[in-house]
Amino acid sequence: MPGRLQLLARRLLAQLQSALPALPSSCALCGVTADAALCADCERQFFHGQTARCGQCALPLPQTNGIKTRCGACLQQSPAFDATIVATDYSAPIDQLVLALKFGGQLALAPLFARLLRDALLQDQRQKLPTLLVAVPLGAQRLRSRGFNQALEIARPLTASLGITLATRLVLREKETAAQALLHPRERQHNMQDAFCLAADADVRGQHVGVVDDVITTGATLNALAALLKHHGAARVTNLVFARTLPK
Ligand SMILES: [Zn+2]
Ligand SMILES: [Zn+2]
Repeated sequence: MPGRLQLLARRLLAQLQSALPALPSSCALCGVTADAALCADCERQFFHGQTARCGQCALPLPQTNGIKTRCGACLQQSPAFDATIVATDYSAPIDQLVLALKFGGQLALAPLFARLLRDALLQDQRQKLPTLLVAVPLGAQRLRSRGFNQALEIARPLTASLGITLATRLVLREKETAAQALLHPRERQHNMQDAFCLAADADVRGQHVGVVDDVITTGATLNALAALLKHHGAARVTNLVFARTLPK
C-alpha cells in the first residue's frame, strides 16, 4: 500500500510541475544565461532610456528640459484619464515579449512586466501612487478562448509589490468588442462605447484608480474605462501599461 501511495504522490507532483509555467533560465530578449528573466545589458538598453513622454498618454515627446508637458492630441482633446505610466515602447524586440505573453501563453513573463512597470512608476517622482488597482477586463468569450487575461496576470504581481489592493470584480466587460487591432483608429473609439460597466456594489468615489494593461495604442479602451470610473466618482485615473505603441 505505501508503494501505491508513493506512486500516486509522485504522479501528482509531476502533474503539478507540468502545470507550472517554466521559469526562464536565460534572458527573454537575447537568450544569454541569466539568473533573472532579463539580463542586465538588455534591461539597461531597453528599459532605462530617459524618454520624455506626454504625462497624460505617454507618447514620446521631444526633450523639454524636464518641464512637464502634454502632447498636441491631449491638449486638443483631453482624455478621461489623468496620467499614463509605461515601462517601454512597443517596438522590436519588446513587441515579441508582449506577443509571447498574450498569444504564446508565456505567463512567466507577467511578473517581469510587473516589475519593470513598478520601476517606471516609482522612478517618476511626480506620480502619486493609486489607492486601488484594476486590470482591463477581457470579454467572457475571449477569456474562455485565451484561458487567461494578460492584464490581470501583470496586475497581480504589481499589486503585491506595491501593496495596493487589486479589485478583480470591480469592472466588467459588458459587450464583446471587435479586436481593436483590426480597426481603424477612428472606429476604435466607437467600438469601445458601452464596452464596460461597474459591478453593482462597486464604490470608487474619491479613489485614485490605477488601470493595468499590456499595451496602449490609441488609448480608446483606457479612455472608455477612465470615463466610466470618473462618471462613478473616481478622483483620479492613472494608466499603468507595460508598452506604448508609437505613431506610424
Ligand atoms: Zn539579454
Ligand atoms: Zn498625450
